[in-house]
Amino acid sequence: MGMKSDERLETIYQEVLKRNPGETEFHQAVREVLESLGPVLAKYPEFRERKIIERICEPERQIIFRVPWQDDKGEVHVNRGFRVQYNSALGPYKGGLRFHPSVYLGIIKFLGFEQIFKNALTGLPIGGGKGGSDFDPKGKSDNEIMRFCQSFMTELWRYIGEYTDVPAGDIGVGGREIGYMFGQYKRLTSKYEAGVLTGKGLDYGGSLVRTEATGYGATFFVQEMLRARGDEGFGGKTCVVSGSGNVAIYTVEKIHQLGGRVVACSDSNGFVLDEKGIDLELLKQLKEVERRRIRDYVEYRKHARYVEGGNIWSVPCQVAMPSATQNELNGKDAAQLVKNGCIAVGEGANMPTTPEGIRVFLEAKIAYGPGKAANAGGVATSALEMQQNACRDSWTFEYTEKRLAHIMKNIHQNCWDTAEEFGAKGNYVVGANIAGFIKVAKAMVAHGL
Ligand code: GLU
Repeated sequence: MGMKSDERLETIYQEVLKRNPGETEFHQAVREVLESLGPVLAKYPEFRERKIIERICEPERQIIFRVPWQDDKGEVHVNRGFRVQYNSALGPYKGGLRFHPSVYLGIIKFLGFEQIFKNALTGLPIGGGKGGSDFDPKGKSDNEIMRFCQSFMTELWRYIGEYTDVPAGDIGVGGREIGYMFGQYKRLTSKYEAGVLTGKGLDYGGSLVRTEATGYGATFFVQEMLRARGDEGFGGKTCVVSGSGNVAIYTVEKIHQLGGRVVACSDSNGFVLDEKGIDLELLKQLKEVERRRIRDYVEYRKHARYVEGGNIWSVPCQVAMPSATQNELNGKDAAQLVKNGCIAVGEGANMPTTPEGIRVFLEAKIAYGPGKAANAGGVATSALEMQQNACRDSWTFEYTEKRLAHIMKNIHQNCWDTAEEFGAKGNYVVGANIAGFIKVAKAMVAHGL
């Protein structure tokens, strides 16, 4: 499948390139979705007439703002903040905030675009959005992080709200940052509006399972993919999980609970190989408590090996779960994984596989679960947090995890059935793109121009 089958799609894509110069990650995300949509336009002429694709590619609103802050030495810094309110057809804008030096408008737009379809797939009433800053949290003190978060919210607060736009975390933004931002929102508005942010602490309106949700959900999704191929699941399987942040940690936890063995994880400097299986408690202590680098793992586990600058995808495994960042797995890596016996890939990160990598996985006909389906458990549990906030309730861990597992099963089924209906059996890229798109497109048609 490709856009060549439909001239209109190619024209729309060319227009996107022209209107958004230099935003390569955004172009990549748009292209990947548009390549799936030919058969949809053939089946739903109203989407064509109403120019739904052209409209979906253009964010409803893009906010760019200045974030000045002072470091511990008293020096002033200026960063740039973003919030892209992409699509509100299904509900208030929903999506995380990313704090990372690589952030610019093109990154936020690619993430916001993906978020529209991901959020639609959850089946919950949330639109798509994303935000963040080019601020680098690495090496910053707790006070510096607090001052930055407060300054960021001092501008952002006027654009968000429980019924308007509900941010959460992403790379560089976890429970600590959400706490500082929530405090500032409360100070500025004089309102205890619990549903304005998700990923909150359990003491002030957060949901159980939200911390674990993205990793757990991605693992559930892979389990469903394995079962759909007649495989019983993770039992006895060797797995590789890139990254060592929130998504990676809880992916490792769930894989271990389900009987698999994760032998490698990584950060941007290198990877750790532990054939006995990654020691989860040590990983949590290093990353969540002490905020250290993955190289320090081998200080405590002498049998493990750290490979500085190494490529984690060279480690043989049956299941690979890229859970670090965009474009971390290319065509060569994909070919090596397939050659080494990998049968399933589930993306915990957003767009971690390059277009060439995706092509390799699809051609090899291994189970490939794209991020917008596989990692939707995070935002889905954010929507469950919003539900609990709306009725001033809090659910048990067991109940919330059951809801998450059920949502992931449904997403898998929806992607599977949709791919089959549109002549691409077993292709979760086509299934996720089409199923997510149709839901949003129908709502947009219903709402008129
Ligand atoms: N940043 C996560 C994502 O990529 C979660 C967003 C949220 O919970 O709103 O989906």
